[in-house]
Amino acid sequence: MQMASGDRISLQTYQFVGATPGKKVYIQANLHGAELAGNAVIHQLIEFLSDLDASALAGEIWLVPVCNPLGMNQRSHHFAAGRYNHYDGRDWNRIYWDYEQEGEDIDAFVRSHLNSDPMLIIQNYRQRIQASFQAQLEHLHSPAGAPVHKLYRAQLQSLALDADCVIDLHSSSNRGLDYLYYFRDRADSTSFFGLDFAILLDEYDGDAFDEAFIKPWLALEAEFAQQSRPIRFDIEAWTLELGTGMELNPESVAKGLRGIKHYLYQKGVLVGLEPSPVPSPTQFLAPRNAVEKYYAPTGGLIQARVDPGTWVKAGDRLYQLLSFNKSGQPPGVIEIQAKSTGLVYDISINHAVNQGEYVLAMVQRDV
Ligand SMILES: [Zn+2]
Repeated sequence: MQMASGDRISLQTYQFVGATPGKKVYIQANLHGAELAGNAVIHQLIEFLSDLDASALAGEIWLVPVCNPLGMNQRSHHFAAGRYNHYDGRDWNRIYWDYEQEGEDIDAFVRSHLNSDPMLIIQNYRQRIQASFQAQLEHLHSPAGAPVHKLYRAQLQSLALDADCVIDLHSSSNRGLDYLYYFRDRADSTSFFGLDFAILLDEYDGDAFDEAFIKPWLALEAEFAQQSRPIRFDIEAWTLELGTGMELNPESVAKGLRGIKHYLYQKGVLVGLEPSPVPSPTQFLAPRNAVEKYYAPTGGLIQARVDPGTWVKAGDRLYQLLSFNKSGQPPGVIEIQAKSTGLVYDISINHAVNQGEYVLAMVQRDV
């Protein structure tokens, strides 16, 4: 993509190809501009894979660090503001092309593949996805041009569309724990990553990178089940959330790296010697609706807040809001208590909040 200044925005891909055929694994980092930790994970993966004998790798691994240069370079004073594209206000992770929304006749595709080998089904369905993707790419080259988000997503998705496994490395934009998002019927593999917990993306956010990749496959599985041939394709997408924004938290980087290596080993991509396994499996799984976000009930300053990683019971104090006024009264302190029992996993960096702004997130869980 060429900028007004004449500079060109481009992506660097690192590809490692094993001695034997196998899965294609696609890993990217920094899709949101402030979420840096995944870049350090990819750097260490590059070092690890560079030293690895080709016989210890089956299939191929594609790595794309700093995958969103525009978002990564955005600033508001000292702060990285790259969650949204300043040009059009779009969230950089809600813009992706989703084959499922093309409305192609999946019902007929399944009917014609009811007795086919799963490998052939994957191959033929992937061809359909690719053909549809190519068709929409042609619109980008019309004399009318195309908007930024479509140009950008075309580049990024073209790298990942034929993958068997997509791992998208994020962090909190604020301060958070290390956890992951997973999709329907993929709970088994969550334990390999050894993170604090995992959230099932059962309610879709809409056009996130991981979703756009896997939704067509989930739809295909659902249609096969509908036509009485339950089948689960070995196609997976993960979003890892590694710690705090604007930081390379060493512990989060180490956990991310160890988890990915262990996952790749378990999936047969790394073969031979087992890389150091995770010390404990991912600790618990939760549905999306177990996430509860707290927003400031009035404007003020946050104090005495619990840290990420704190388990709270209903009624426990989560934080205080120091609230100022213009009515001649002394400033007040408001206590905010937990509505339910669970784990606080993310908190806002800024302690000043307007009414309605984000303060913290917890995942409800009875213990
Ligand atoms: Zn993110």
